[in-house]
Amino acid sequence: MKCPNCDKELKQTEGKREKKFCNSTCRSNVWAKLKRQKKENKAPKPTEKSEPTDLNEVQERIAEIEKMLLLPQKYLAYNKRTILESELNKLKFKLIDNQ
Ligand SMILES: [Zn+2]
Repeated sequence: MKCPNCDKELKQTEGKREKKFCNSTCRSNVWAKLKRQKKENKAPKPTEKSEPTDLNEVQERIAEIEKMLLLPQKYLAYNKRTILESELNKLKFKLIDNQ
């Protein structure tokens, strides 16, 4: 077993409780990291795009999705493809509505 903070191999003492960290500094570092991650997970993901409202953005997004749909099956999972296709339809309707 290795220390999750510094990757050092941990020496286990027989008969004693299993060591998970090499020292208390590493342990508190790992806990601090976990805490930070939890906080970040709660915040909205910046990569997730909100629905575009600007027509240029809509067109850009459509082009982006169409390009992604051209990817071979092995690069684009079936469920992801379905999601993209429904988003594409919605965007196209939006474009028609605005013309
Ligand atoms: Zn360590």
